[in-house]
Amino acid sequence: MKISKIEHLGIAVESIEKALPYYEQVLGFECYNIETVEDQKVRTAFLRVGETKIELLEPTSPDSTIAKFLETRGQGIHHIAYKVEDGVANALAECEAKEVRTIDKAPRNGAEGLHIAFLHPKATQGVLTELCEE
Ligand code: ZN
Repeated sequence: MKISKIEHLGIAVESIEKALPYYEQVLGFECYNIETVEDQKVRTAFLRVGETKIELLEPTSPDSTIAKFLETRGQGIHHIAYKVEDGVANALAECEAKEVRTIDKAPRNGAEGLHIAFLHPKATQGVLTELCEE
């Protein structure tokens, strides 16, 4: 697959409101979008960092995967998202051909109107990996 950059880093937080002052007032980033992704049961906040972004992820329900992550691992880096230039569907097909386990079998809609798919952390050397395209 053809990956052009790290699109964003996903960071699990207990509360976007509590986390934002650090990112905005200490690191000097600006949050330009807060959005709820209903089917993932998360609220997301995006901040630009040069060519890439930080995505803060807050659970909107106790059965959200982010709520489970916070319970077992605490706040911290949740996933890395790469921008693929030749399409998420093609990338998933390539993963299947190379027997790389994925969480998603087909691209779905993520925050910011991106098409996304997750690869399984068991197949990615321990890092939950998201592929995305605009
Ligand atoms: Zn993400």
